[in-house]
Amino acid sequence: MKKVIAYNRVEKPVLEELERIYDIRFFKNVDTKNDPEFLEHLSESEGIIGLELPVDAELLDNAPNLKIISNVSVGYNNLDLEEMTKRNIMATNTPGVLTDTVADAVFGILIATARRIPELDHFVKNGEWKTEAIENEHFGNNVHHKTLGIIGMGRIGKAIAQRGHFGFDMNILYHSRSRKHDAEERFAAEYRTLDGLLEESDFVCVITPLTPETEGLIGKREFKLMKKSAIFINGSRGNTVVEQDLIEALKDGEITAAGLDVFEKEPIDPDNPLLYMKNVVTTPHIGSSTHETELKMSELAAKNLKSGLNGEKPANLVNPETCKDKS
Ligand code: NAP
Repeated sequence: MKKVIAYNRVEKPVLEELERIYDIRFFKNVDTKNDPEFLEHLSESEGIIGLELPVDAELLDNAPNLKIISNVSVGYNNLDLEEMTKRNIMATNTPGVLTDTVADAVFGILIATARRIPELDHFVKNGEWKTEAIENEHFGNNVHHKTLGIIGMGRIGKAIAQRGHFGFDMNILYHSRSRKHDAEERFAAEYRTLDGLLEESDFVCVITPLTPETEGLIGKREFKLMKKSAIFINGSRGNTVVEQDLIEALKDGEITAAGLDVFEKEPIDPDNPLLYMKNVVTTPHIGSSTHETELKMSELAAKNLKSGLNGEKPANLVNPETCKDKS
C-alpha cells in the first residue's frame, strides 16, 4: 500500500475512502520540521493531501518518495512551487467547487460590516437597547446602489460581482492583471487601474491569490487613496495587505471600516488591535467552510491525489511542467 499523509483537514467520508486504498496517517498542526513521527512518515510517503501544510525545500528534502501534494484549497501559497517542480512533484488545488460559497461569505462580511451587524448584535444581547428609537450613532451604511471595487476578477471575484450587480444594483469596478470581457458584459463591470479603483469605490474587496506580486498590495499609500467613507474587505490572504497600515488607516479615519476573513498571522494574536475596533468585523478564515463545500473540496482533492499516484495527470495540476509527457 502506498503511504500518504493527510494534513489538517480531509472530510471524514473521504478520508475513510482513501484509507481503503492507501496507508494513511493523519496529522494536525504538527511541527513539520521536528516532529519525529511526522518526519518518519514523510520520508516514506508518496502523497500528501490536506490544508495549509507549509512546504519548502527543507520539507521536500525529507520527502524523497513524494510524487504529489494535493491541497484541499484553491489557494496554494503554502507550496514552494519552484522547489516542487524542480523535484518533479505535482501540486494540485480545488478550484471552482468553493467559488459560490466564498462569494457568499465575502458578501456576508461586506453586509455585516456596512450594517454593523456583529456590533449591534452585542448591543442587543448586552441589554443596551433601552430606547425605542435607535440613535444615529448606531446607523450603518447602504450597500445597494454603491460602487463595489473588486481586486482580482477571477472565479470568486466574478461570483462577488454577480451578487453585487444582480442582488444589490451595485456599480461594479474591477482590477485584474488582464481584462475580463465576460464580467464586463454580464455584470456591467468596468476595468480600472488599481489607483482608479481605490479612488472611486465605496467598497474595496481584495480576492486575489497571494503571490510575490500581490504580497503587500494594499498598504499605507493605497489606504490614503481610498475614500474616507470606504469599507475595506479582505477575503484573499492576510499578507496581500500590510496589516499595520490597515490598523493605522482605521485609527486615523482614512477609511470607515473593514471586514476581514484573513490575517497576517492565523490564528490572530489576542492583542491584535483589530480585535478591539468596533468598526472591524472578523471571521476565522472560513470563506469556503460550509459542510457541503468542504466535502466537495475533499472529494476533488482526493480525486487529484489518486490521479497523481496512478501516474495520470491530475485535473487541477498547478505545475504542469511536472506532467509534460502526459495528456
Ligand atoms: P482565480 O480564479 O485564479 O482568480 C484570481 C484573480 O486574481 C484573477 O482574476 C487574477 O487576474 C487576479 N490577480 C492575480 N494576480 C493579480 C495581481 N497582481 N493584481 C491584480 N489581480 C491579480 O482564483 P479564485 O478561485 O477566484 O481564488 C482567488 C483567491 O481567493 C485564492 O487564491 C485564495 O487566496 C482566496 N480564497 C480565500 C478563501 C477564504 O477562505 N477566505 C477561500 C478560497 C479562496 P488574471 O486572471 O488577470 O491573472
